[in-house]
Formats: sequence, structure tokens, C-alpha cells
Amino acid sequence: RTVMAKSKFEYVKSFEADDKILQNCWIVVRIDGKNFHKFANTHNFEKPNDIRSLNLMNFAAGCVMKEFNEIIIAYGQSDEYSFVFHRTANVYNRRASKIVSNVNSLFTSSFVFYWNRWFGDQKLQYPPCFDARYVLYPTTENLKDYLSWRQADVHINNLYNTCFWNLVLKKGLTNVEAEEKLRGTVSSDKNELLFSEFGINYNKLPAMYRKGTILLTKQIKIDESRTRKIAIPIYDDLIKEKFWKEHDELLLR
Ligand code: ATP
Ligand code: ATP
Ligand code: MG
Ligand code: MG
Ligand code: MG
Ligand code: MG
Ligand code: MG
Repeated sequence: RTVMAKSKFEYVKSFEADDKILQNCWIVVRIDGKNFHKFANTHNFEKPNDIRSLNLMNFAAGCVMKEFNEIIIAYGQSDEYSFVFHRTANVYNRRASKIVSNVNSLFTSSFVFYWNRWFGDQKLQYPPCFDARYVLYPTTENLKDYLSWRQADVHINNLYNTCFWNLVLKKGLTNVEAEEKLRGTVSSDKNELLFSEFGINYNKLPAMYRKGTILLTKQIKIDESRTRKIAIPIYDDLIKEKFWKEHDELLLR
């Protein structure tokens, strides 16, 4: 760096785009596993929900939250995680590519680094890859709606997948037969199918599967003089205003 500093090549630096993110907006960084349909098969994921992977995703996201203290909340489901930076955040002077690439890189390396802790004997077969993007939300309403959108997504997918995999694994239907059986059904049909054919009360299934995982950070006391920051998983309904009333401090500053 010092060698290059005053060289005649220095001008190329000026080709870099200024990608400073607009002030005052909420910044959401969402990462998503690349081709995890295949990754899940290769690593013998349990269907419809592999708890090892969900725990590892949550843990990797916790590593990101610990590193970036301006993340106020994170939300994860399936192979994706969303990280919300407070609208006043000033990390990397709000440079978009710095933020997005460092979040994604730390998430991905943590996913790999802690793989064995959750997957034990199941060896990691190849290096997983995640994509990442950032989205700006100018109002708090937009931000809440964003998170609600992701949580509605997990509800729709998980209800469908729970039906699908019960039909395939317990009733021996082929994938095509299961798809056909579910075509055109609405939520109440699916709830009824689970209950009448498999004795499953959908609302009693683990909340992590049905609602995804919300991560909040808390300072905990280790002893008299030291505190440590940890990411706490909760499995609430954030679509309801009640959640934001209970956690109103998140959006303030
Ligand atoms: P930033 O997060 O801003 O990139 P940085 O500490 O990584 O901070 P760089 O300008 O990227 O700063 O410099 C990388 C530094 O890492 C070098 O100054 C050097 O100290 C160290 N480093 C990297 N690679 C090597 C290496 N192969 N051998 C010895 N030191 C290295
Ligand atoms: P893309 O690269 O476009 O994201 P993708 O195959 O990752 O492709 P997604 O829409 O992201 O597609 O879906 C992720 C897929 O990964 C799910 O459909 C599911 O098959 C699998 N998957 C992810 N997490 C789990 C899990 N915890 N348990 C079971 N399957 C999972
Ligand atoms: Mg460096
Ligand atoms: Mg460098
Ligand atoms: Mg996708
Ligand atoms: Mg994916
Ligand atoms: Mg996905």
C-alpha cells in the first residue's frame, strides 16, 4: 500500500464508485444460500426442516450480530438471513459494498467454521456459497412490512412443505403425486389434511419451523466487571404490532 501510494498508477483508484448509502434509511442486508436445494440433498438434510442447519444458520448470524453492533435485529428462515442496521448506523461510513461483503463473508465463514458443532459426523462436502444484497427502507412501516413479508413467506412455505413431506415420507406418494394433491389447496385445507391424515396439529409444531428465528442482542453480565454481548433467539410473531410494542426500544435511538 505504501509502495503504491504515490505511483503513477494511483489514478486508477478514482475509478471506484462512491457507494455511500443514503442517510437515515434502514439498511437490510439479506443473505441466501446458493442452490441450497442441492446443498440440502448432498448433506442429507432432514425434510421438511433440518434442525442442524437452522441452528447453524442462527449461530452464524449471531456471530455477525456480535461483530456489527449497529444491527438491531436479524431474522432467519430456511437458507436466508436478514440483518437490519439501524437507520443511524455509520458502519464503514455507510459504504454499501463494504457492509454487504463483510456481512456476507463473516456469515459464510462462520457457517463453515462452526459446521462440525452442529453437524457432527455429517462432513461438509464442498464450500457453500451465499449471495447477498442490501435494501433500503425509508420508513419504519416499510421495515416492519419487510420483516412481515419474510415471516409470511416462511409460513406459506413451511405449511406446504410439511404437507408435502408427510405425503411423500409417510404415505409413500411420489413428489409429483404430492404436488398434485396439494395443488389449489388453501391454508385451511392444508391444516385439515395434516390433522386428518397424520394427526398433526400444525400450530403445535416447533415455532422455529413455523415462524423463523428473530435474533436480538442482549448484554449479559459474566461477573462484577465484565459484560458480554450475546444473540438471543426468539420465535415470536413479528407481523403483529404487539411484537413492536414489546420491543419498542429497538427502533429508537
Ligand atoms: P482493512 O480491514 O481496512 O482491510 P487491514 O488491516 O486488512 O484493514 P490492509 O490494508 O488490507 O489492512 O492490509 C493488510 C495487512 O495485513 C498488511 O498491512 C499486513 O499487516 C497484513 N498481511 C496481509 N497479508 C500478509 C502476509 N501474507 N504476510 C504478512 N502480513 C500480511
Ligand atoms: P437459490 O440459489 O436461487 O437461492 P436455492 O436452491 O437455495 O436456490 P431457495 O429458494 O433459497 O433455493 O430455497 C432453499 C432450499 O434449501 C429449500 O427449498 C430447501 O430445499 C433447502 N433448505 C434450506 N434450509 C433447509 C433446512 N433447514 N431444512 C431442509 N431443507 C432446507
Ligand atoms: Mg484488509
Ligand atoms: Mg489489503
Ligand atoms: Mg432464491
Ligand atoms: Mg437459496
Ligand atoms: Mg432461500
